[in-house]
Amino acid sequence: MTVTWEELRWERLATGVGRCRLPVWDCTAGLVVGAGAALLIDAGSSLAEGVRLRAQAEELAGHRVTHLALTHPHFDHVFGAAAFAGAEVFGAVGVDTVFTARHGREELRADAVGNGLDAHLADEAVDALALPRHHVSGEWTLDLGGGRQVLLANVGPAHTAHDLVVLVPGSPEVVFCGDLVEESGEPQAGRDAVPSHWPAALDRLLDLGGEDALYVPGHGAVVDAAFVRAQRDALADRFGVSL
Ligand SMILES: [Zn+2]
Repeated sequence: MTVTWEELRWERLATGVGRCRLPVWDCTAGLVVGAGAALLIDAGSSLAEGVRLRAQAEELAGHRVTHLALTHPHFDHVFGAAAFAGAEVFGAVGVDTVFTARHGREELRADAVGNGLDAHLADEAVDALALPRHHVSGEWTLDLGGGRQVLLANVGPAHTAHDLVVLVPGSPEVVFCGDLVEESGEPQAGRDAVPSHWPAALDRLLDLGGEDALYVPGHGAVVDAAFVRAQRDALADRFGVSL
């Protein structure tokens, strides 16, 4: 690598694995570097942010970002996706319907503007939304070369109807949770959430990641299995779900 994670203010989590916390909404974008391939997890909140992310990720990887995984269809995670032209884009099955349906696009735009994104930037991002071509139901193993394999798992619905997580085996194992887990505030449950299934989704996440993994929330600091388990209990309590 020509540049270090620290120099670009990314957090290194394991060999070839890191993330950055994006400005304004503290949204996480993750990177897994393979041999000649690289996976970015989430794309930022605007086209310009996507372009910046891509440049940084490619500097860190030393080559192109070849794959993009979208954890769920919220503006702060997907509006930069069009900056990754040519990458293979993955999402939970059905996520493309949010991007193509008129009301889905309008809700994305309204949510972005309501959260403070400039209306012009929101229009530009909605017009350019990149559709995931690979729809994950269950699990999908991605080979990034050089012995680097990652697992994409559809564990929802929970935070949205289309929640995808990314597991990166290694020591430590790293789990990119999307907004199924939040550290910097309460988990956000909007109109598109499926709260009754959320605790079960976190059980699935814990099964996949195990006790020793680093769990990377969609917003906030990296947490451990105990934190995820406590958040699962709190969500069950909040939404009246019996465990
Ligand atoms: Zn979200």
